[in-house]
Amino acid sequence: MENPKEYILLKRYFGYDDFRNGQREIIEHVLKGTDVLAIMPTGAGKSICYQIPALMFDGVTIVISPLISLMKDQVETLCEAGIKAAYINSSLNSDEYEKVVENAKAGMYKLVYVAPERLETDSFLELLKSIQISMVAVDESHCVSQWGHDFRPSYMHIPKMIQRLDSRPVVAAFTATATPEVKNDIVNLLKLDNPFCLTTGFDRENLYFSVLKPENKFDKLLEYLSNAKDKPGIVYASTRKSVESICKRLQDMGYSATRYHAGLCESERSKNQEDFLYDRVNIMVATNAFGMGIDKPDISYVIHYNMPKNLESYYQEAGRAGRDGTRAECLLFYSASDIMTNKLLIENGSEGKDKTGEYQKLNDIVAYCNTDRCLRSYILDYFGEKDVKAHCENCSNCSNHIECTDITIEAQKILSCIKRMGERFGNVVTADVLHGSNTEKIRTMGFDKLTTYGIMREYSKDAIKEFISYLTAEGYVTLHGDQYPVLKLNKSAYMVLQGSVKVSIKRVIERQKTSSDLKGTIDKGLFDILKAIRRSVAYEHNVPPFVVFSDAALNDMCRKYPTNNEEMLSVSGVGTFKMEKFGEQFITAIRQYVKEHEIKINHVEYTKSKTVYLPTRKEQKVDTRMATYELYKNGLTINEIAAKRELATGTIEGHLLDCMAAGMEVDSESFFPKELEARIVEAIKTNMDGKLKSVKDALPEEVTYGAIRFAIIKNKLQKS
Ligand code: ADP
Repeated sequence: MENPKEYILLKRYFGYDDFRNGQREIIEHVLKGTDVLAIMPTGAGKSICYQIPALMFDGVTIVISPLISLMKDQVETLCEAGIKAAYINSSLNSDEYEKVVENAKAGMYKLVYVAPERLETDSFLELLKSIQISMVAVDESHCVSQWGHDFRPSYMHIPKMIQRLDSRPVVAAFTATATPEVKNDIVNLLKLDNPFCLTTGFDRENLYFSVLKPENKFDKLLEYLSNAKDKPGIVYASTRKSVESICKRLQDMGYSATRYHAGLCESERSKNQEDFLYDRVNIMVATNAFGMGIDKPDISYVIHYNMPKNLESYYQEAGRAGRDGTRAECLLFYSASDIMTNKLLIENGSEGKDKTGEYQKLNDIVAYCNTDRCLRSYILDYFGEKDVKAHCENCSNCSNHIECTDITIEAQKILSCIKRMGERFGNVVTADVLHGSNTEKIRTMGFDKLTTYGIMREYSKDAIKEFISYLTAEGYVTLHGDQYPVLKLNKSAYMVLQGSVKVSIKRVIERQKTSSDLKGTIDKGLFDILKAIRRSVAYEHNVPPFVVFSDAALNDMCRKYPTNNEEMLSVSGVGTFKMEKFGEQFITAIRQYVKEHEIKINHVEYTKSKTVYLPTRKEQKVDTRMATYELYKNGLTINEIAAKRELATGTIEGHLLDCMAAGMEVDSESFFPKELEARIVEAIKTNMDGKLKSVKDALPEEVTYGAIRFAIIKNKLQKS
């Protein structure tokens, strides 16, 4: 460790033991005073790269961020972690604004978040001159470029603002998406001074990618939700109408769902968004209008009910899952009709824009939906990532079984038909001809005279279109043109027609999910308890639950069972400040849970190594009895064992009786007198048909299950 201070701050304020890929290098450069441009995917942890230096510098760090809702979340998260921060944007009234200005002048903040539009106001620039600014962090810095997808003219004011300061602070720019043009723009337009540039790569290892072609999308959605309905997730649909209908159907079936699209009034949109953010509802059904500015880190799945218009949007939207690093799933429900919807969207929404580019991007995502390659490698190749592994083993194409069916004959029929139609038509007319439809267009064009007319009558038109999409995805044919793209044969198509190449279609056989895929390996019972505590703490503090502790932190608690402050601090995501603020309630609940469920955990092992053996619940129970037995063999009394193990004496007696029942040597006279045994036997006999619980209820409260079990075994009575 070259600079332990960074690590101390990382643990104290954020609760993490180690930096993620790229974070440390960026922090080191910033601390040396070098400007930085960091291109890191969503969820990679860009914020910490400027928050830690902000804590180490003397003055204030100004963070320029384009989204008001994001600012609020970030500032709340910082304040809950014990870091002094504030934001300045149009949501503040004049009193609130004055207060923030006053505090900033008094040096009360380490970070101040501002909307870029502020940089245009003189009063704000005056404020900046009266405080010491150590760093300017530019979030979503691609907004400065007109090449990017979210150009914000106010970003152009950033260099002017920096110039007006008495001394130039270090400038750090961050973004998740930057093509070479955008990257150049960021460096030049923000006037970065010989910056250290770092790209960590686009891969999001914790995301599972899957493409499904369900016959009935809604049924597929229900099937998925049956295992995931308690987790927060987003369902994206392409139109407002489908958002309305999916949401309504889910609500009618009792699911906790809400909706979001641009057609709703502002107040409903923000209410629904808050409900989702605050875990009051689990499922957000939305158009792509939802998501910008949503920093909810524990989204467990993102389902695209329809194929989006390109891979850029898909990766950005799907990337909203699993920001906290826990495993999350990104599912795309594909159907050929999604292509039509997207074509309409391109036609209606791209006045003056480059349609050829948009159609090309549409073709690329159609190919993604139809490829049998590893989906992750497809995406990463698309974004120009180098040295991509061919198989990720974490996408549906890598993990499912793929069944091949030879479709050379069908392919030859289709390719030959395209050729005979003069390579001047798209897939709809081609499918009509192959299917043998009797339309006026076909008659007028004379296609009903072609030898290929009706030679695929046994297939539905949709099925033929699927074949054509597949041949397109595999590169045998290409779609040319914008509005009415036409199918043209490629070189490889001629090889198929000559019979020198065979074509097979791959049908994905979905792997049945194992229970560990669905539930993870954590203790679900405890997780639910901790989640409920988190919700009430969040309610008390009026912040979203993830601001208290992330799901990743709760998961780690369920693995480590921390029962004191020190152990709680070993949990990833629990820093000193939050531990002091919220730790106790969680520790108390965990202690009680551990006791009730007799869970024995070797904490030392957990903190030392990440790959530890997790005992099963059954093994833990055996273990806890053995621990009692060992102390008993060492001569401790029942009271002493109970005190040492922080368990009730009744529990210890129960353990020892279980040991006796298992044939181990225990002198039971002192705590299991003969009269008691006789009483138990009597109770068992009178409750012969009842459950163990009825026997217990018939006896004084202090008689343990262990005692009853022992009496049954010793007296050879039948009782399950
Ligand atoms: P980005 O801005 O790059 O999308 P964030 O800064 O919002 O990502 O971080 C995403 C999540 O990752 C947050 O929940 C954050 O607390 C967590 N995180 C950041 N750095 C680390 C780290 N070193 N170890 C574990 N989790 C981290």
